Amino acid sequence: MKNIALHWQILLGMLAGVLVGILCSGSEIGIAFIVDYIKPFGKIFISLLKLIAIPLIIASLIKGITDLKDLSQLSSMGIKTIGLYLVSTIIAITIGLTVVNIINPGGKISTENREALMDGFATNASKKIEAAVAAKERGPLDPLVDMVPSNIFEAAASNGNMLQVIFFVIFFAIGIILIDEKKSAPVKAFFDGLNEVILKMIDLIMLAAPYGVFALLAALVVESPGGDVFISLLWYSLSVVLGLGLMMFVVYPTAIKFFTGKSPSFFFKGISPAQLLAFSTSSSAATLPVTMERTEEHLGVDEEVASFVLPIGATINMDGTSLYQAVAAVFIAGALGVDLSISDQLTIVLTASLASIGSAAVPGAGMVMLVIVLGAIGVPEAGLALIFAVDRPLDMCRTAVNVTGDATIAMIVAKLENKLGDPDVKHWDDHYNKQ
Ligand code: ASP
Repeated sequence: MKNIALHWQILLGMLAGVLVGILCSGSEIGIAFIVDYIKPFGKIFISLLKLIAIPLIIASLIKGITDLKDLSQLSSMGIKTIGLYLVSTIIAITIGLTVVNIINPGGKISTENREALMDGFATNASKKIEAAVAAKERGPLDPLVDMVPSNIFEAAASNGNMLQVIFFVIFFAIGIILIDEKKSAPVKAFFDGLNEVILKMIDLIMLAAPYGVFALLAALVVESPGGDVFISLLWYSLSVVLGLGLMMFVVYPTAIKFFTGKSPSFFFKGISPAQLLAFSTSSSAATLPVTMERTEEHLGVDEEVASFVLPIGATINMDGTSLYQAVAAVFIAGALGVDLSISDQLTIVLTASLASIGSAAVPGAGMVMLVIVLGAIGVPEAGLALIFAVDRPLDMCRTAVNVTGDATIAMIVAKLENKLGDPDVKHWDDHYNKQ
């Protein structure tokens, strides 16, 4: 295994997981074996990734910001990052809307299938709907209020509060920059060292990645619903996948080539382990440590940029999610016979941008926030039941796009800030010297 590049190892693990899952799903014993003895290893792997996420954000963001010369560099990077994130989200939604309006999957679903799906998934979907309605009832400035923690330990205690941690850390790092260098030097040195330790821990966790994804996918296969639901939602799923594919294989590589001059193969070779992990875990937050490692060490993005752009991106920049929300909203509207005007489509652009920013970087979050989009265009939220069955596979695909989008913007910001260099594979060389 050691001689094979990491992305191939992960891919092999995924394929083996799917195969073993398919083989075992034929019998009760097989299913029980996977659920009892394989699935726990997948859970452990995700826990390890999540475990490292908050310490990584703290150490690397402090190191990244305190390496900056002054605060003007920070604000210039901040403006570029947020601006590019917004632009990429709007491009994603526009692509989603174009694809779904051309394919019109809502018009292709038969009344029979629609009723079967609504009945079959109504109870499962109702939990999501409850969570979603709670999210919808919040005031317009609540996300801003939520960003400022009142207790940093409480914020850091929950991986769901990453934005609060980022807020505190940026504030803390600004404090370090502003004090006397004699006083700040030991603090900075501590966080520099801590950062190295955490990067090494990620190296070690990644040794388990092929086995982790094997366990995750095997469990997913034995627990997924039967094939016929997929077929009735084929056109809808195809629309989402086509839109995501355009983002992943056309928009991002073109943007990278245009802004940085780097080739698509360079980009995909560097980022693919993070993409595969995003696909297997359905969580950009869990994938963040690997996205950061790959972006810095294989795509040549300076740590100052990566440690700032990527944690923020993992929480607010979700191109895949916003694209999916646009397609899903139009699909559900079509299937339920709700006509959408041009202004409804513009409302989708606005609300899907906000809903994707508000989606947590965890599995299934995009579906919860979809209710905001549905509400804004007057589509009953019970329609979520229609898409419930295929949400997981689509979540896997959109999460891979979310992560790729973050890495793309990190490369572009690095180029604009003159901080894109040659990849330095120092941390990874120890384990994967073939790459
Ligand atoms: N699972 C996605 C992510 O973590 C969010 C979503 O559900 O769309 O990026």
